[in-house]
Amino acid sequence: MTLDQVKEITPNHFSLPRRIERLGELAYNLWWTWNPDVQRLYKRIDSDLWEETTHNPIQFLRKVERAKLNAVTHDSYYLDFYDRSLLAFDQYMEREDTWYQKNHGHIDKEVIAYFSTEFGLHETVPIYAGGLGVLSGDHLKEASDLGLPLVAMGFLYTKGYFTQVISEDGWQEAQYAKLNFDELPVLPLVDNEEKPTTVSVELAGREVLVRMWKIQVGRVPLYLLDSNVDGNSDDDRELTSRLYSSDLDLRISQEIILGIGGVRALRKLGHSPAVWHMNEGHSAFLVLERIREQVEKGTSLEEAKNYVQAKTVFTTHTPVPAGSDEFPAWLIDKYFGGLQQQLGLSRDEFFDLARHTVSWGETFSMPVLAMRTSNLRNGVSELHGEIAREMWGYLWPDVKTDEVPISHITNGIHTGTWLARRMRHLYGRYLGSDWLDNIDDPEIWEAVSNIPDEELWAVRRHLKRKLVIYMRERARAQWGQDEVHPVQVIASGALLNPYALTIGFARRFATYKRADLILSDFERLLGIINKPNMPVQIIFAGKAHPADQPGKLLIQNVYRKVKKAESGGRLVFLEDYDMNLARYLVQGVDVWLNTPRRPNEACGTSGQKAAVNGVLNFSILDGWWREGFNGKNGWAIGTDDSHTDYKFQDDMDAESLYDSLENEIIPLFYDRSSGNLPVDWIGLMKESIRTLAPEFSMRRMLKAYANDLYFEVMDRTK
Ligand SMILES: *Cc1c(COP(=O)(O)O)cnc(C)c1O
Repeated sequence: MTLDQVKEITPNHFSLPRRIERLGELAYNLWWTWNPDVQRLYKRIDSDLWEETTHNPIQFLRKVERAKLNAVTHDSYYLDFYDRSLLAFDQYMEREDTWYQKNHGHIDKEVIAYFSTEFGLHETVPIYAGGLGVLSGDHLKEASDLGLPLVAMGFLYTKGYFTQVISEDGWQEAQYAKLNFDELPVLPLVDNEEKPTTVSVELAGREVLVRMWKIQVGRVPLYLLDSNVDGNSDDDRELTSRLYSSDLDLRISQEIILGIGGVRALRKLGHSPAVWHMNEGHSAFLVLERIREQVEKGTSLEEAKNYVQAKTVFTTHTPVPAGSDEFPAWLIDKYFGGLQQQLGLSRDEFFDLARHTVSWGETFSMPVLAMRTSNLRNGVSELHGEIAREMWGYLWPDVKTDEVPISHITNGIHTGTWLARRMRHLYGRYLGSDWLDNIDDPEIWEAVSNIPDEELWAVRRHLKRKLVIYMRERARAQWGQDEVHPVQVIASGALLNPYALTIGFARRFATYKRADLILSDFERLLGIINKPNMPVQIIFAGKAHPADQPGKLLIQNVYRKVKKAESGGRLVFLEDYDMNLARYLVQGVDVWLNTPRRPNEACGTSGQKAAVNGVLNFSILDGWWREGFNGKNGWAIGTDDSHTDYKFQDDMDAESLYDSLENEIIPLFYDRSSGNLPVDWIGLMKESIRTLAPEFSMRRMLKAYANDLYFEVMDRTK
């Protein structure tokens, strides 16, 4: 198969006035998602419809009234804005002085293949569950900004991730709806007869077909696999319908599709990547397929292994062994009998590639496979790097723990995606016109001190009002639904005060994240939040994995406290946390709270999103905050130690949390002794932005990946 037999169908289902017809093209490149001004091109046509279609330009263009489209073609202000936006888009896409081209252009044409099970690009493309996906999405956006020659591989889940509904008693219900691909920015790849382009993989003796889609992320293509294809059995068509099933057969099938099918898909597209990056171990089967390819060409197994390993990079995200992705031996026998023969390996030798001893026996561990078959490996924060070297050190029995070959690169966030539009304009005015090109340069951010306090505070107040109004509207809409009890409307934020000190806590509800730590001494908390003249409100949001009973009980515990009359509507739980809600929260609250049980938070990124927006972090010294906190840019909870006695650690952390809230945070926020502005608070905000925005940007992170991993591998394998 050659490249020219694969093409994408360009959608032509909008009939737009010629003068603004490129709005359709723009809808199919996610570049618009990190350019908030460009989003106004849609919003200005019909802002109600823009909200109603949840910021989905494709759905928007299919529904918008022709008269409204015609109207803007006579609006010179709009047309000017349209022309400037499209010009910026064209310049972005054609730019030839990107960081990559300026510094590394000589190694052009060699691509980096990036594999991940989830990609969080925008709320309208629900193919992510949480932090890992958002990180992958941010990685692609930044690769596009830097001009890195990267192609990505993942899944187009036909049912996406679930929608969360909370019952009156606080129980999480998961609802799955089939996605309508016609309303998503996905392009089907087809052959000359316009039939879906497919590759096939063997799953326990049967051949399963997988088709390919593409999402364009700026300059970077993201290819997505989907088993819902004519010719597959009904069951096989469902293989890629959801993320992270707890069914083992389903999970291993998905990982074979991603790893093995993903390599075949890239081959079909004509790629022979110079670097293969496995973002977490789920995609590690890709090394087996690449080894098989070499062996098939007549290379010895040993040589094939070395050849493949030299070009492979692995990032681990899991600091707890229990969180590892692994399979029992019988399942490996069932799915890999054929491959063992092709590689000329015995059952035992094959299992050795990924053998991992656990309490009940031995498993085939995906992170072990990835560790053993990659050239460079990294964790995602300094502390996580240390933990990973301890955890996986046994794979290098002759090496001292601190010399185990696993490094770390601390995660960052794609600034353009997470920064509020108003903050962006404010930075534009005070940091210099080229600040966006130098996001990772600490010097650029020194100028934050020049922003007048009143201006910064005015933007912060605006963003908090916007959050509160949005939440009240959601609460109002919820009241109209069947089976909703009025107290749930209050739990959703109907009584929020746009001027009160507002704390945000939003993330996956895994038990180690301890969402209930701040509720652990409930009487004390009630005293704190209900003080006259110094009200405090706390907004919780997050989904538990549908099979995670303890996580769901945690939500219920939080929800029951939220509903109590004594909470006065000041505690809130927002349903269905996603990237849209995340944006409102990290932009709108005053304080971002994070209370993981150390050292379980490999990195964490939501606090980084908050920081760049001027929100102050109040967190355990775990993951990134252990590196970001400098004693005067936010607050730490607890000490720089980990403990094995959970009860002891929880009690100590709770005590520290309440003390800081009562004695430092609340008094500082309400200190208006210098007039209307909390001057010291604003000083902290500036210190936080100045020190954290450059360091925890995806720009800094991706340059490190490129320099320390990608180019290093390219150099070594020249
Ligand atoms: C950023 C983000 C996350 C990850 O946040 P953590 O702080 O790493 O837990 C999870 N979900 C969504 C929707 C996000 O935007």
